[in-house]
Amino acid sequence: MRLSNRFLSFYLSFTIVFGWLVGWLVVLSVSRMERILHKLSSYYGKVDPWKGRSAFEVLLRTVISQNTSDVNTDRAFARLSEKFNISAKVISKAKISELEACLEVGGLYKQKSKRLKKIAQTIVEDFGGDLEFLGDLPVEEARTLLLNFEGVGEKTADVLLSFYFNKPKIAIDTHIFRVAKRLSYGGKRAKYSEIQSKLEAEIAEEQRLQAHLLLITHGRSLCTARKPKCYNCPIVDECPYKDKNL
Ligand code: SF4
Repeated sequence: MRLSNRFLSFYLSFTIVFGWLVGWLVVLSVSRMERILHKLSSYYGKVDPWKGRSAFEVLLRTVISQNTSDVNTDRAFARLSEKFNISAKVISKAKISELEACLEVGGLYKQKSKRLKKIAQTIVEDFGGDLEFLGDLPVEEARTLLLNFEGVGEKTADVLLSFYFNKPKIAIDTHIFRVAKRLSYGGKRAKYSEIQSKLEAEIAEEQRLQAHLLLITHGRSLCTARKPKCYNCPIVDECPYKDKNL
């Protein structure tokens, strides 16, 4: 009887310690970025991406969004959609003055009008009028091809690849640059590729689009350029930023 009590007590202690150890091993095996994304997701919920009707439409809207607020991007895109049935063929034939009239609510509208027309002309002349074939190419090949268009940089290419083609690239915009640096995923002078590869190293391919959307949402709402609202931040415990606003 005494022996079986001892055994029971040993068994219970062993189970508790073993369970505790397994719990800690699970916690330690989750990357820091996974914890951050889990907390951001609990705080903001699921964020839906903007879905265009075609690869060209997503590319066009992303070019419009360069140096332009979301509100003005939406306005410019709405004007363009009202005026044109957007396709590379249609935009390649549009008058620059008509494009400018639609885009003037955003920044650099003259430059962007010329660029969009040129991009559309290249798509018509060199690729038969659309970019849907990019979905069948290996991601880096598709990316290299996009970077050859004038006015298409890494962020624009990665937005198209991830939003429209579901390729596992994290587009790094100005908000993600700031949030990632504050979270120590890149030093002060870190370039696009450095931040992108550090984030991608810790984020599973199927989570990268949602990670992009959550980090942008966080940069817009709490981790703002000026006076970040650290006192409300759901990832304050994970953040080593030394100038926290608490
Ligand atoms: S604690 Fe402040 S600086 Fe750090 S992620 Fe949150 S809002 Fe940004």
